[in-house]
Amino acid sequence: MDETLSSHLGTLIGERHPVTAPAALRRTEAYLTVQFTRLGLNISTHPFRALGGTYRNVFAEKRGQSPFPPLIIAAHYDTVEASPGADDNASALAVLLEVARSLRGVPLARSVRFIAFCLEEENLLGSLAYASSLQAANEEICGAIVMECVGCARSEEGSQQKPSGVPVAVPTVGDFLGIVGNAASAHLVKAVEAAATQAVPDLKTISLVVPGNGELLPDTRRSDHAAFWHHGYPAVMLTDTANFRNPHYHQPTDTLDTLNLAFMEQVARAVAAAALALCSTTQSTAERRTGVSIWKEAALTVPHLASLVTNLLADRRVPAQAKATLAGVVAYLAMPFDLIPDFIPVLGYLDDLVLVILVFDGVVNQIDEAIVAEYWKGDPATLQRLKAMSRRAARFIPWWIKRKLFGGQT
Ligand SMILES: [Zn+2]
Repeated sequence: MDETLSSHLGTLIGERHPVTAPAALRRTEAYLTVQFTRLGLNISTHPFRALGGTYRNVFAEKRGQSPFPPLIIAAHYDTVEASPGADDNASALAVLLEVARSLRGVPLARSVRFIAFCLEEENLLGSLAYASSLQAANEEICGAIVMECVGCARSEEGSQQKPSGVPVAVPTVGDFLGIVGNAASAHLVKAVEAAATQAVPDLKTISLVVPGNGELLPDTRRSDHAAFWHHGYPAVMLTDTANFRNPHYHQPTDTLDTLNLAFMEQVARAVAAAALALCSTTQSTAERRTGVSIWKEAALTVPHLASLVTNLLADRRVPAQAKATLAGVVAYLAMPFDLIPDFIPVLGYLDDLVLVILVFDGVVNQIDEAIVAEYWKGDPATLQRLKAMSRRAARFIPWWIKRKLFGGQT
């Protein structure tokens, strides 16, 4: 396997910058396309306008057998100016290709979308364009595993620095893989860590879940995962901690001879194991079970929901249209069933669960997150999960139920 990694690295390493090395950027895009195509994946590109030109993210999709939202595994293919970018980020591209290779021929329930982002080094322009297009299309994902510098591992004492403010113990030897998530991605951090530990026991990992979107720890927001966080999608960053371990970070000396291929091979096996755990057929049964438990969780939140609805109705910042929907919900809750014969055929289809979905889809997902958070007395993680699930579930609620409940406006 090391030969595959080093052969990819041999081609990929070299300055890949939009201004100082644009041809190398295009060659890298072509190389990735050829490699993904050879692995039998469906290729597409996502063009976006930036820096006065058009740039492209490369997608390679391994289709799953079930219509679950896809898992994204990503790395960026640009470099900073004047750096050959071996660790940053050819290491992650080589691992990305290796993961795709190792999953070839393995049937999965959930699709895996491999993405090579462009312009990460230019304030995440590529991943921000992609994550906002996901949101605009109302598309759900299972989560994103973003690899950023995964090629440096060292065994000397004192080879690891600790980013300031990080609230976990950080070893002084730089031989571990960091797994970083935000509050809404805590489940994904756990899943990746568990799969890595089980499949590659020799690979040390240190997990960190930052509060909110890591605003207080800017060092945890420095790659494409932050674009997903910004748009409310779960994402984790896998990292060798970059400049906190690698003295060649963003330097002309970020070259092949400074990489640790054995470490990269372990990372590739860990990521492949995580993909299997999150996307395999047996996992889809687990997904169904999780589906049940989230709705049980939803039912338990009905009191929180009632208080949320009451407060939103009284808040001047909530738009009139949203209030009309909320009023419809209150009317439904207060309605004596036997007095409203028109509703009788509908009631068989309505339960608290449907109500939760409708309220979230019709109202909560449409208004300012900060206002909702202010009035939500339940677990913030539950709020995030309900928001995501309801976006998806609302599509399956017949339009006539919505109309009966809320009139013609939904
Ligand atoms: Zn990078």
